[in-house]
Amino acid sequence: VDPLGTSIERFAEHAVEITARLVRIPSDGPAHDERSVVAALTAEAGGLGLPRGDVIAAEPTHPNLIIRIPGAAPGRRLILTSHTDTKPPGDEADPRSGEIRGGRLRGLGSADAKGAVAAMLVAAAALRGANLPTTGELLLVFSADEESDGTRGLAYLASTGVLAADAAIVGEPSGLDAAFDQLPVLARGFVGFTLRANGPRLHSGLVPRAGVGSDPLATIARAVASLPALVHLPATTGNGPHSETGIPSRLTFTSMGGGIADGILAGSTWARGEVRTMPGQTRDIVAAAIRDGLSRLGGGDAAAASVDLEVDTFDWPASFVDPSAAIVTALAAATEQVTGRWPPSGAFPGATEAHVLAGLGVPTVPAFGPGLLSAAHVPGESVATDDLRAAVAIYARAAAAYLS
Ligand SMILES: [Zn+2]
Repeated sequence: VDPLGTSIERFAEHAVEITARLVRIPSDGPAHDERSVVAALTAEAGGLGLPRGDVIAAEPTHPNLIIRIPGAAPGRRLILTSHTDTKPPGDEADPRSGEIRGGRLRGLGSADAKGAVAAMLVAAAALRGANLPTTGELLLVFSADEESDGTRGLAYLASTGVLAADAAIVGEPSGLDAAFDQLPVLARGFVGFTLRANGPRLHSGLVPRAGVGSDPLATIARAVASLPALVHLPATTGNGPHSETGIPSRLTFTSMGGGIADGILAGSTWARGEVRTMPGQTRDIVAAAIRDGLSRLGGGDAAAASVDLEVDTFDWPASFVDPSAAIVTALAAATEQVTGRWPPSGAFPGATEAHVLAGLGVPTVPAFGPGLLSAAHVPGESVATDDLRAAVAIYARAAAAYLS
């Protein structure tokens, strides 16, 4: 007699269908908005017999959706949250097909993170359909703007007071080599920055006439090539088990550019980079480490001094949760029940909005959901349909245990 299991079986397929429908709706940051996808989610919630939810938005074009599902008696409040926006597509054909072939659902956001959104919504419906005597409240929070700068998503909701809770799970494609192969208790942080190197915009035929000066393209290229090995962040201490997770902080460049046309010296050049941080490595610590790395750049003081550093003002701190927290053990037990394997504690290499909840003192699993991180932010993004069904069962069983 397993009423929740029966209800999960009855509902699980909806997660596949809803993911396919959500994938077909553009919500690419930062150019597109999330209104259409939130309208669709509201309708899907109604179709599943759930409350249709409330929209709370910093800007109308970037709505966050909150769906409250109260239990039968007072108790703990659990947040299941993920994001409705995606990275922009590349030049691949039909990036939002939502096609299912060979057990995989294809399209932008299928893994990151519309699959998690759909699985959380359907898990709530399955929980409700089982008529369990749950206590407290289950809160579904579907945020906007996570793949852009994140200021209008959970960070904005935190300022409105709606995120008060006893625990939370952030839905992201957390599998590294296989789906659900680890339970991240840590997600690295993210500090973005821009380097700029400027020089005179002149006729390039004047090189190498005396006085033309340094070449900003060479300077920025040298910084991009050398800086990752020159920036050393101080190791963090006192952060418990995640020092054993084995993913170090890391500086990486993701784009660069500059110049105007043939025959003209590039007047201004730029490069965008990011540092993936561990707990305790603050924006200020990162900025100092980059400045130190720049000071040791080859090419002499003049070249190094001509590189300007601008560190983004909004950063994403690393976040972690105590592996013995009730939500972690509930989620691990649910995963074992569904997959047959207790997931070891691990780390999520990407940054998630868990830092906002952790900042409010809410014990938050920083990333757990269907799919592989290696399938996200790539052309031909996809998720296994079995992972979507399993995610419904895991989220529903973890929520039922936590709210019992
Ligand atoms: Zn994501």
